[in-house]
Amino acid sequence: MKVLKFGGTSVGSAASISTLVKIIKQESQAKEKPVIVLSAMSGVTNLLSEMAEKAAAGESFTPQLAELELRHFNTVKELLDIQQQNPVFTRLKIYFNELEDLLQGVFTLRELTPKTRDLILSYGERCSTLMVSRIAMQHMPEVLFTDTTELIKTDSDFGQAKVNMKLSELLIRTLYNEKKDHILVATGFIASNDLNQVTTLGRGGSDYTAAIFGSALNAEVIEIWTDVNGMMTADPRIVKKAFSLPDLTYTEAMELSYFGAKVIYPPTMIPAFLKKIPIVIKNTFQPDFEGTVISAETKPSTQPIKGISSINEVSVINLIGSGMVGKAGFSGRLFSLLAREQINVILITQSSSEHSITFAVHPAEAEKAKSLIEQEFELELGARKLEKPVIEKNLAVMAIVGENMKQTPGMSGKIFHALGRNGINVRAIAQGSSEYNISVIISAPDLAKALNAVHESFFVQLNKTLHAFCLGTGNIGKTLFKQLNEHSQYLRENNRIQVKIVGISNSRKMIFDPEGLSLDNWQDNLLEYGEEANLGRFVDIMKSMNLPNCVFVDNTASPLPIKYYEEAFKANISVVTCNKIGNSSAYSQYKSFKNTAVQHGVDFFYETNVGAGLPIIRTLRDLIVSGDRVRRIEAILSGTISFIFNNFKGDASFYDVVKMAQEKGYTEPDPRDDLRGTDFMRKMLILARDAGYQMESTDIDIEPILPKSCIEAPTVDAFYAALKKEEAYFTKLKDKAEKENKVLRYVGKLDNGKASITLEMVDDSHPFYMMSGADNIIAFITDRYYERPMVVKGPGAGAEVTAAGVFADLINVGAN
Ligand code: ADP
Ligand code: ASP
Ligand code: MG
Repeated sequence: MKVLKFGGTSVGSAASISTLVKIIKQESQAKEKPVIVLSAMSGVTNLLSEMAEKAAAGESFTPQLAELELRHFNTVKELLDIQQQNPVFTRLKIYFNELEDLLQGVFTLRELTPKTRDLILSYGERCSTLMVSRIAMQHMPEVLFTDTTELIKTDSDFGQAKVNMKLSELLIRTLYNEKKDHILVATGFIASNDLNQVTTLGRGGSDYTAAIFGSALNAEVIEIWTDVNGMMTADPRIVKKAFSLPDLTYTEAMELSYFGAKVIYPPTMIPAFLKKIPIVIKNTFQPDFEGTVISAETKPSTQPIKGISSINEVSVINLIGSGMVGKAGFSGRLFSLLAREQINVILITQSSSEHSITFAVHPAEAEKAKSLIEQEFELELGARKLEKPVIEKNLAVMAIVGENMKQTPGMSGKIFHALGRNGINVRAIAQGSSEYNISVIISAPDLAKALNAVHESFFVQLNKTLHAFCLGTGNIGKTLFKQLNEHSQYLRENNRIQVKIVGISNSRKMIFDPEGLSLDNWQDNLLEYGEEANLGRFVDIMKSMNLPNCVFVDNTASPLPIKYYEEAFKANISVVTCNKIGNSSAYSQYKSFKNTAVQHGVDFFYETNVGAGLPIIRTLRDLIVSGDRVRRIEAILSGTISFIFNNFKGDASFYDVVKMAQEKGYTEPDPRDDLRGTDFMRKMLILARDAGYQMESTDIDIEPILPKSCIEAPTVDAFYAALKKEEAYFTKLKDKAEKENKVLRYVGKLDNGKASITLEMVDDSHPFYMMSGADNIIAFITDRYYERPMVVKGPGAGAEVTAAGVFADLINVGAN
């Protein structure tokens, strides 16, 4: 036979009750009738508990009581034939009257004992089970409402009573055998003590009721019907990428549920384990889905872990002192004290020096635990062998669980890497001797971020999500969004990376969405729904969202974002930037970026600072980390100047070439901003620094291209006029070069720690001789690349290639 348990949401609405009745109907055909166990309608137990608290506090509970009645009555009206409604209304009304009397009593006495509380809570299961059994009876006359306060016997530990299994099983078997032709529809969660006072089995305890029935009747299976597709790799409400597990061992299910996977109540596994009855977790709202099978053996799996669960509120008590060193029995005394006083210890860690013991308890029990310890260890405290216990609040426990863990080394390393990269501090760690579980204590506000980050690092088959906050919506920003939008599918399928743009700001407006902004119409949305831009606030919001794998992307050319880079690093947010201003300001600033990023284990990528999307910074870094030494660098890193000299040949005048460059959009509005070489200088400076030289901008010698009159001209027009006048100067340069079969090139050099940018003439044996368009070129002359340099050449400017470089940097953050 089978036992089927339906949880709160499964009896929570008329629609779900109809589905449930269909499921029972199917099972009713079996030779041995199934037993059905039901919870209270969803939210009802909480509501009852709230009413009891209100009554005890002398507050009115009548609105809630009315709400409760109405919810049940409406469901009856919706699902039961009109002729059959009245007797059910009467029975329900009796329950509600009893409940009201009870609450009134609590109200009058202003006292709520655990015993009364259990009795009040029991009405949730009684009402739902009575109602559902009558509805089911319409379709299956053999249904029999069964009140488990008459079948399941417990001690008098109200709130979490211990079951007398032998007696309960006997009572259950007797009834089942007596009513062989009936389908028992039984109340979950509730029981009674030997004085027949109502007790409860602990919150979520209906699952346990089902297991008790299963054990008593040697069921072939215990089915737990709930509102999700079985046990998942993590709580799907917190980890959106959680997925269903096909199977689990009893131990794994026990560990996961003990550490917070609410989908099944931990004690449920015990009777099932003892009798080797499989538990199957199924979804009432998707009955065809196989669900999760919990049994003694599972299919072999390559996953090192099964799932991650968490308890979102715990308090930790630290005990420190020399009194514990080598004192056998100290922890024995401590934990038997806590056990005696019924304080549940969630997790324990002890330092190897035995100087300290840390343990976690439910926050409501922390103060009590502390004062018990102070009483028990009064002598040790007085003699200063033990320091006063300290309570730390607002913490959470995260546990990873799986039987494969014991064969897989490096599990803790993996957790710490994921947590570390996301700036989550681990307060304590505990690994059970079984090695089925590693638990860490972290700060409660970090929990969601931690769960997502760790989940992603263990379930590598899932896409890794990067959360990017982007500044700047000019050419590069715009193009980046377009490229991301076009390649998102490819990235998901081939790189397992999903980039969510969660914040966008330009100098006017900013907009956020933790789920990711649409890249189809971000411009309209920014305009219509964006709030007024404020860089400081943008950064504050980015930090407060506390998202895993977070990247701050600076696509501006403004000095303003620079001062926020370090703030980002300190919040464990990586920075990707095409903005050169930061890295080319003071050396101390450059160094500080690097150090802070390293300290916080995050990335700082700026490939597009030099040569747009060309792999220059990365090549230099790879050479250095692989042990090579840079002897010399020669480079042409200004696309504009490159274009000008590539075209300044034959009959062309320098004036015409500069004009053409401007018309083609290769220059700044004032072409002198390019020709002065400042931008080139910044790139050389960044390269020199990356090559290991502590250098400032003033250390770079720049040979001016322009004569003084051109530089000093007050306007752009005056500049062009001056340029025309100086034509002879440029022609002379060109003629000289051509006579020697050479070409003019504006070349940056880094040689033995000295950097310069000079106008040179190179012959056709030089790699810089053949250049076209606005290409950049760089030659690395190193110990390994000495005879022939390593050369990188290609388009070094333009929105498409720069955005592509930013894109690549972003993906590299994800790849780490
Ligand atoms: P029921 O009322 O059916 O007993 P519960 O609310 O007690 O249902 O348990 C189901 C809920 O457990 C799910 O809705 C889900 O939000 C939560 N949950 C937490 N952790 C997990 C997990 N690892 N897998 C599945 N569900 C989980
Ligand atoms: N109704 C009870 C609770 O909410 C028992 C259960 O749902 O399993 O705790
Ligand atoms: Mg439950």
